[in-house]
Amino acid sequence: MSLFRKRGRLAAAFCVAILAVPALAEDFLPTGREAVALKDGTYPASYFPNTEILGADELRITALGTGMPNQTKSAVSISFLVELGNGDKFLFDIGSGSTGNLFSLRPDFSKIDKVFFSHLHVDHVGDFMGLHVGGWLSGRYTPLRVFGPTGSTPELGTKSYVENMQRAYAWDLQTRSGALPDKGAELEVNEFDFMQDNEIVYQENDVTIRSWPAIHSLDGAVSYSLEWNDLKYVFGGDTYPNKWYVKHAVGADIASHEAFLPPKALAAYFGWDMAQATYVSTRIHSEPAAFGKVMSAVKPRMALGYHSVLSPENYQAILEGIRSTYDGPLTLARDLQVINVTKDNITVREATIDEYALPPSVSQGYIDAPRSDDKSPSDKVEAGKWDGYTPPPMPDKK
Ligand SMILES: [Zn+2]
Ligand SMILES: [Zn+2]
Repeated sequence: MSLFRKRGRLAAAFCVAILAVPALAEDFLPTGREAVALKDGTYPASYFPNTEILGADELRITALGTGMPNQTKSAVSISFLVELGNGDKFLFDIGSGSTGNLFSLRPDFSKIDKVFFSHLHVDHVGDFMGLHVGGWLSGRYTPLRVFGPTGSTPELGTKSYVENMQRAYAWDLQTRSGALPDKGAELEVNEFDFMQDNEIVYQENDVTIRSWPAIHSLDGAVSYSLEWNDLKYVFGGDTYPNKWYVKHAVGADIASHEAFLPPKALAAYFGWDMAQATYVSTRIHSEPAAFGKVMSAVKPRMALGYHSVLSPENYQAILEGIRSTYDGPLTLARDLQVINVTKDNITVREATIDEYALPPSVSQGYIDAPRSDDKSPSDKVEAGKWDGYTPPPMPDKK
């Protein structure tokens, strides 16, 4: 018997004799998978995933990726997770590298079944198949639901992107179907007109998500708002300052919008000349001063800027740019930043994560979900198995 378990048993005996509270089971060990409610509305200084019960009226935003297409270890590409007190979870974009941060939170993947694309740049959708297959491996036993805009032609839209990714990963998907729940392999695509102006793209369970056009590179980029329980979160995606955002983001509790590297910092970052850096920073994207102008018009409870790498020299340049045009509440997003939002309070913290986090537990629903037969190579390939190795016998199935 381990010392830990011996102590647990002694502690249990003490509790029963003196305090008359229920004894701990002999095999009791903390699972690290049970969350508790916060006391007196006070948040711990750091957010430890799966330790806090989200309040029934509360919304929590976790920045999974806030950086550039060329990621760094601490700033991967764009993705935000929004969790609601009613149990719903939504992903906005799933840029390259962002699934590492998602998995480090060890969420219940049976609930991570909806992703909304702002546009189809790799820094916004690059980890899509990692989300699809990784989530399916980790507890999702229903289709992954994808919401995204059309393009100016069918092949530039979300539906075409998803179907082509499915084709490209046909081998991967076929190897896993059978071992994993059949339904988890499926992708449900909900493509909507990129020009729709603040119209509803999702409405279930008292959650309403709307989209409007963004101005970025080509037709087919959008921004979103999510409204629930009198709270409003806006996800800008990538966009030049535009009239739709300024109109429809009004009333946001959290209004997120890109605050891209200003021209000089961008030129230094990529080694570009000033003409190219100025074009990209101020014509394709929104530089910090432009972000500030937008936020001065929208006046959210909290402005949330992202899409840069907050190295010390960049941080200063971005902050100065924003503060030249905006003096309201501001957060510059970093990866694994956590924002709790209620009607009375906005709390910004950083998550503390385990670098080698275990995958989350799967539910009974996942274990029981129907599966077709396992796949294996053909007889001609199987015939090549080396007779110098014999695998251990298979245990009986539970
Ligand atoms: Zn983009
Ligand atoms: Zn981008």
